[in-house]
This record gives sequence, C-alpha cells and structure tokens, in this order.
Amino acid sequence: MKLLKGKNVIITGASRGIGKGIAEVFAKHGANIAFTYTSSDEKAKALEYELSSNGCKAKAYKSDASDFEAAQQLSKDVMDDFGSIDVLVNNAGITKDGLLMRMSEEDFDSVMNINMKSVFNMTKAVLRPMLKARAGSIINMSSVVGVKGNSGQANYSASKAAINGFTKSTALELGSRNIRCNSIAPGFIETEMTEALGDETVKEWREQIPLKRGGTTDDIANTTLFLASDMSAYVTGQVINVCGGMLT
Ligand code: NAP
Repeated sequence: MKLLKGKNVIITGASRGIGKGIAEVFAKHGANIAFTYTSSDEKAKALEYELSSNGCKAKAYKSDASDFEAAQQLSKDVMDDFGSIDVLVNNAGITKDGLLMRMSEEDFDSVMNINMKSVFNMTKAVLRPMLKARAGSIINMSSVVGVKGNSGQANYSASKAAINGFTKSTALELGSRNIRCNSIAPGFIETEMTEALGDETVKEWREQIPLKRGGTTDDIANTTLFLASDMSAYVTGQVINVCGGMLT
C-alpha cells in the first residue's frame, strides 16, 4: 500500500542522513519530493537522480532553512514546480557541542538558527498553501536531548526543546484547519552527525540503549511516514520518542 500516493512533500536537509532516509522511504510510498541542502551539491544531485530514476518526481533546492527570505522563496518555487505542499518535514539540523564554559556566542546562535528558527521560517512559508487547502502535516525533527537535556549540548538541547514547544503551539493553532503538527525525538541514530563522536563513544551509547543498538535512518523514516500519512489522522501536538527505549 502506498501511503503517500501523489502527495507533495518538502524535506529540509535531505542530502544525507535521516533526511535522505525519509526521502527514500517517502518515494517508495508514492510521494513527490522537494528537498533542500546547503553545501552537499554532489550528494543532493545524486539523491535527486536516484529518486527520479525510481519514478518519483524529485527536485533538490539549495536553500538555507535558517534564512527567512530563502524559506519564503523555496515555498513559492515548490508551489510553482509541484502545485501544492501537503507535507513539510523540518529535518535540517546541526550540532556545535561543547561545555557551556567554552561555548561561544556564535556556536549558540548558529545552532538555534539552523535547528529552531528554520522550523519557524519553513512553517510560516508553507502556512498559506496549507491553510488554503485546509490540510497538511508538519513534522519537526527534535531529539531526546530536547526532552531530557545533555551535558555538552546546551545549545542543541535548547534548540530541540524549543522545537517541541513550537510544535505543540502550532498544533493548537492549526488543528481547526485540519493541519497537524508533531515532532519526532530520535535517540542515537547512526549517521554522519554521530560519526564525529568516535568509535568508543558510539560503543558506550549502544550499550546504554535498552534495544542494544543505535537507530537507523529507516527507524526514523518509518515514524515520519506514519505522521505524514492519514494513518495518523487523529495525532497532533505530540512528541514521539524513537530511541530504542532510551527515554522511558
Ligand atoms: P546530518 O547527517 O548531519 O545531515 C544534516 C542535513 O541537514 C544535511 O543534508 C545537511 O546538508 C542539511 N543542512 C544543514 N544545515 C542546513 C540548513 N541551514 N538548511 C538546509 N539544510 C541544512 O544529520 P542527521 O544525523 O541526519 O540529523 C538530521 C536531523 O535529525 C537533525 O535535525 C538532527 O538534529 C536530528 N537528530 C539526529 C540524531 C542522530 O543521532 N543522528 C538524533 C536526534 C536528532 P548540507 O550539509 O548540504 O547543508
């Protein structure tokens, strides 16, 4: 069964990692995919080619989600190219980890802007077409550390906690227009973002997880698919932890 047949989707930050995994799973379920990135030109082109070769309408847009005007332009371009925006996945995110004592203002601001302000920018940008259609599903990529905090990630966990508050408020404001908004809090998902941690740290993380493994991009993509599709028609304003039992 194709759960997203004919749906037009924007995924931010899909040139690799979780965003790419979501694009691949959505494509298998019949979605048309507009996705963004900022620097990985070759990877983005390769994904556009991979999705298109499998019969999916797909287009990569070089667009910085932390830039308000760029988000407005992206929404206009996607409307011109695809005709509607049914699903928005705010996935783009970065880390600039460090203990608070050593964290610079720049590292705080860039994480807040790329992780959190991007969600505001993109949600604002798709609001008009979704309100007009009286339908939409917005999915924001948060993190378990936005729920529980993490030493060395004050900027990152603050940005993800802010996403959860934003998600709940948006769900309350837009529910009457049949626009749903939920966030996913992944635990430890093995991507390029986590490769930077080194083998020993990765092993320790795996040991602490009740299911005894790191998550895969498919683990997150399948939950995103559920939230994007009508399978979750009565789910809004929720933060869903996808973390192998890390948060119970
Ligand atoms: P990743 O492998 O580093 O990929 C990040 C993606 O975001 C890349 O495609 C990157 O492309 C894009 N990106 C970065 N800044 C952007 C911007 N300003 N505008 C648009 N795109 C931008 O990260 P990931 O592990 O897949 O993580 C994806 C999301 O899941 C993030 O929000 C992250 O915080 C969250 N998350 C991850 C984990 C984990 O364990 N991996 C856990 C919890 C939450 P370019 O480099 O080309 O810009």
